[in-house]
Amino acid sequence: MEDFEDEDGPLELTPEPDLAVEENQKKGLWGKLKRGLFMTHTEMLERLDAAMEGRTVVNEETLEVLEESLLGADLGVETTLELIESIRSDVRPGQTDLLALRDRLADEVSLMLLDAPQPEPLDGSPTVHLIVGVNGVGKTTSIAKLGRWYQQNGSKVIFAAGDTFRAAAIEQISLWGERLGIDVVRQNAGGDPAAVVFDALQAARARGADHLIVDTAGRLHVKVNLMKELEKIGRVIDREAAGWRRRTLLVLDATTGQNAIAQAREFNKAVQADGVILTKIDGTAKGGMAVAVARDLRLPVLFLGVGEAAEDLVEFQPRAFASALFR
Ligand code: GDP
Repeated sequence: MEDFEDEDGPLELTPEPDLAVEENQKKGLWGKLKRGLFMTHTEMLERLDAAMEGRTVVNEETLEVLEESLLGADLGVETTLELIESIRSDVRPGQTDLLALRDRLADEVSLMLLDAPQPEPLDGSPTVHLIVGVNGVGKTTSIAKLGRWYQQNGSKVIFAAGDTFRAAAIEQISLWGERLGIDVVRQNAGGDPAAVVFDALQAARARGADHLIVDTAGRLHVKVNLMKELEKIGRVIDREAAGWRRRTLLVLDATTGQNAIAQAREFNKAVQADGVILTKIDGTAKGGMAVAVARDLRLPVLFLGVGEAAEDLVEFQPRAFASALFR
């Protein structure tokens, strides 16, 4: 029999990856991402295709149309100009074909995103997630999606109905809790959000929860109040949640394009967000917003909302995102 032992020791076969599982996970992420970016992708490519007028190789005009398309997809002015410049250096009008151009764009955007601030990975400690954002951006739905996400990872989740300002917000998060089988700690409308968080932390500890996801009021126009409210919640967490991590996530609505960027700048004056959940990507051709958030705001994008259901959440991965956008 042959002896497989060499100087590095006995030969060990790498275990076969479970292809079925891996493929499914990929299909899950890739399928949702492609579906979420469908409008953005289609609009950009339709413009480019129209400019090609049946040719397969690009010309000067293609680059001009590309610039308009990138701006239209809301990648932001600076990013667009940088991209065009770097593409120009190795795209040969009359020689490079459109597919190569699209590959080049995907690679370049992927590098840009990898170069932007990355999210701090959770280390397995129990975590309090403070979810902030103006009303209507998809905050409650995102809380439900996050809850589902962590549930599916085998974690125990509790919600805190910390937007005590709107009775409807308390009702809505309670409905999601019921649907997902997640306990919701709530008080009556008009109650003190910090007291809700206090109760929720007691409940989370007593029930051995891994993630406490806290809804907060979305009243940006009364910034001082919002700041005070969040500071007070912060103090409760400092006092009551030794050993818990805290993560503040800002929810932004991609359909509002550059307005969302302005909104984020305002919010960041009141609270320092650790990252962004970008919602309603499926309902807009402005999917390039994610690049603007990462590069212009220098805030890590953690998740994309790609629909209204609890499952419609995609973890943001730079390479997959850039590929789905251009390939
Ligand atoms: P909140 O006021 O910020 O809590 O916003 P909601 O969570 O109530 O969401 C406002 C609306 O946007 C609802 O109709 C949601 O179903 C919808 N919505 C939220 N996230 C998404 C998303 O990712 N895609 C789509 N298409 N709709 C969304």
